[in-house]
Amino acid sequence: GMMKDFLTLPALELAGMLAAGELTSLELTQACLDRIHAVDRRVGAFLFVDDDGALAAARRVDAERAAGRPLHRLAGVPVAIKDNMVSRGQPTTCASKILEGWRPPYDATVVTRLREAGLPIVGKTNMDEFAMGSSTEHSAFKPTHNPWSLDRIPGGSSGGSAAAVGAFMVPLALGSDTGGSIRQPAAVTGTVGAKPTYGAVSRYGLVAMASSLDQIGPFARTVRDAAALQELIGGHDPLDSTSLDSPVPPLEDIAAQSARRELPLEGLRIGVVGELSGEGYQEGVLAAFDAAVERMRELGAQIVEVSCPSLDYALAAYYLIMPAEVSSNLARFDGMRYGIRVEPKEGPVTAETVMAATRGAGFGDEVKRRIILGTHVLSSGYYDAYYGSAQKVRTLVQRDFDAAFGEVDAIVSPTSPVTAFPLGSKLDDPLAMYLLDVTTIPANLAGIPGISLPCGLAGDGLPVGLQVLAPAHADDVMYRIAGAVEAGLGEPLASSCPAATWEERA
Ligand code: GLN
Repeated sequence: GMMKDFLTLPALELAGMLAAGELTSLELTQACLDRIHAVDRRVGAFLFVDDDGALAAARRVDAERAAGRPLHRLAGVPVAIKDNMVSRGQPTTCASKILEGWRPPYDATVVTRLREAGLPIVGKTNMDEFAMGSSTEHSAFKPTHNPWSLDRIPGGSSGGSAAAVGAFMVPLALGSDTGGSIRQPAAVTGTVGAKPTYGAVSRYGLVAMASSLDQIGPFARTVRDAAALQELIGGHDPLDSTSLDSPVPPLEDIAAQSARRELPLEGLRIGVVGELSGEGYQEGVLAAFDAAVERMRELGAQIVEVSCPSLDYALAAYYLIMPAEVSSNLARFDGMRYGIRVEPKEGPVTAETVMAATRGAGFGDEVKRRIILGTHVLSSGYYDAYYGSAQKVRTLVQRDFDAAFGEVDAIVSPTSPVTAFPLGSKLDDPLAMYLLDVTTIPANLAGIPGISLPCGLAGDGLPVGLQVLAPAHADDVMYRIAGAVEAGLGEPLASSCPAATWEERA
């Protein structure tokens, strides 16, 4: 059989049908679960599916609606969550063996906000172990396949969330982005994904990778849906000391107005950064990017060439700062507090030998690689040369962006230099995988918001993402521009994903 037609609709349209009584949350949530059970064996987007919990939440919101209670705009619309956000009673593994079987006793703030707004949580999505990677192949449990081409990567580390949205299993999902893990999977799956300004969304209950870079953000199939989800999860949280204490702008309204062309691109200055294109970029990616820039020009934007010379060093700085923070954050997995405990095969059983045996068995190669690197760059004698220099580059990146945003309202670039590559093709060359993060990493170093939206297909028939970067705290500007570009480009790309016509076998 085929999936229910309404599963290809954007979240806000589904929300409209729920509000109008044309659909119940129970019907919608059941359709999502049926779809997951029919196709996820092919995709591998989920690590855990919570049929009972999601259906119970759907029934509750249907009852509240029937009783005439005021509801959140997205109430009743199902959502999936990356498996590095804790959710009470549900397994939260970060796709690592070390956390297998752990059920957290509390909810992340974003999860609390979803529950309070009445969004049924259908399950937890696959990812690179502890969010380290760009392909979801570093999951300890299974790879995730790209719904556009099943032998290709879905991006990473939030590949499960991207594939779940791209394959119409769920209209909305959450991911986390430390160096591109929302934007790059969105780009290669033809979906929309946004990394908010650092601090705009609470990190309380997000298992930390690199705390000064990590941000939670939305996945959706339209810019407006992503804006609505960010608006819901965003805002001050006293439980996260880095959470911004300022009101959330009406992001959904702004995206909706620009989609209706009420906020035109006319008069806006859009920067194209020389450092974020050229050598190493796939031809089809550059062609789709150039066409999108041309379209923005036709829509009235003034296109300005800007230069950010320090971006040439951003990747190197990230791959020093990130592992340093990783090595510190992952010290808590000691075989005592959470997850598995492994005793040494021989010799004395002491705290130290249990810790070594547990970490040896529980962490995968990529995680170990980064812990070793991070420990090295923080060691005395090397600290100034590596970590200290990287922090200086980080400041230069921030200054380059500050200067650029003095001239332009936003900056655009390809989200990823390449389209989805074949599964397995980069696994034996970690450095080649790291290099692909060149486009997304600067935003994390500077703390600025970035979004990826589909801007066409490359010659290989695979989706290309357009990245829009805005100044810190200007997430509204980012959604305004992304909404206008999406409307200007025509039909959202996601609806033409081959997954829309998959034959379903339960
Ligand atoms: N691909 C990048 C890395 O491997 C980014 C990961 C992320 O954003 N979580 O570090």
